[in-house]
Amino acid sequence: MAQLHLLPGKDRSLALRHPWIFAGAVDRLSGRARPGDTVEVLAASGRPLARAAWSPQSKIRARVWTFDPEESVDDAFFKRRVQACLERRRAIPDLRDEAGLRLVHGESDGLPGLIADCYGDTVVVQLTAAGSDKWRSAIVGALRQATGCERIYERSDSDVRRLEGLAPVSGWILGCASGDMPHISEYGVRMKVDVVSGHKTGFYLDQRDNRRLARELAGGRTTLNCFCYTGGFSLQALAGGARSVLSIDSSGPALARARDNLALNPQLPAERAEWREADVFAELRELKNADRRFDLIILDPPKFAPSALHAERAARAYRDINVFAFRLLNPSGLLMTYSCSGGISSELFRQIVGEAALAAGREARILRRLSAPADHPVALAFSEGEYLKGLLCQVE
Ligand code: SAH
Repeated sequence: MAQLHLLPGKDRSLALRHPWIFAGAVDRLSGRARPGDTVEVLAASGRPLARAAWSPQSKIRARVWTFDPEESVDDAFFKRRVQACLERRRAIPDLRDEAGLRLVHGESDGLPGLIADCYGDTVVVQLTAAGSDKWRSAIVGALRQATGCERIYERSDSDVRRLEGLAPVSGWILGCASGDMPHISEYGVRMKVDVVSGHKTGFYLDQRDNRRLARELAGGRTTLNCFCYTGGFSLQALAGGARSVLSIDSSGPALARARDNLALNPQLPAERAEWREADVFAELRELKNADRRFDLIILDPPKFAPSALHAERAARAYRDINVFAFRLLNPSGLLMTYSCSGGISSELFRQIVGEAALAAGREARILRRLSAPADHPVALAFSEGEYLKGLLCQVE
């Protein structure tokens, strides 16, 4: 095994159990290692600290597999880790398989560069780093053993692979490609998950708790769902007894899926749903000009700031949509507003939403701070894992 020597003083973040080793912390690599190979990490003093996956092309030069310098990284390692992920989720009564489940949440689950989402009998795996890519077959074996799933689809097509020098890879690893797309049932609402061409692994599992909250809040309320994608929040709002639900997205295919999902749920009042293909920024302006008002507004935009570099422009975009949302609320109206940008901290987001209320001339308060559900854990040492933040606000 090659050895990765850290510069003096650069072992601090490892001591705190942060799993990333940045290029600036590396003194040298002794021995040969190809991308994804396991290397032994040594402090400047020569003391072994960890075993990590070598990513020579990335600024994150290595990702720690284990802080036990004696632990082998092999097939059995991945079986143990994936099994532990499953057991962590089994401990939470709220997490039910039928609603879709994130089984492995990367760094925060001790498996850097690996995402695995379960939709019924189908597992979608996403490998985003050289190390996880190298261990593909061990990971697939471990997922099979832990879940007993019949189908595994690989969606290793996220942009971050490029930073690792990895090409995009998608396709069925296990099971028949001609099969139907999986369905999930989220609190009794059926949704079809397009694992092949949907966003992320097909569905936004990270908003499950928040969709349930929207359902609880929607009763009797006129509702506006911006960035509706395949209708997750919209259908839950209908299930919760919303008076009406207007849903906006710029993607025609996403709206088509949303309509299909509504049709899968004949128990829901389809006549209360309206779908609009439009740019949210322009449409919010239109709604204001048309003097429309709503009792509940949901703003769940895409990632405007993938990293801190884009934070400033993103902050403007978040501010703009939130100003319009505040203007469109009826008295006592509720706003559920989100940012999934890693580059926007929760404190900055709160500040942006505060400025938006001020600019809209609305008095507002935070009723709840919102986040991702328990199958998207955040390791205490890994604050980067806390990407989704939301606020439930009420205006006067
Ligand atoms: N709330 C959804 C997920 C939203 S994903 C859920 O719970 O499933 C973000 C969505 O925003 C995508 O569907 C994308 O098509 C849409 N989108 C991105 N930019 C947009 C814009 N400017 N106007 C309208 N929709 C946009």
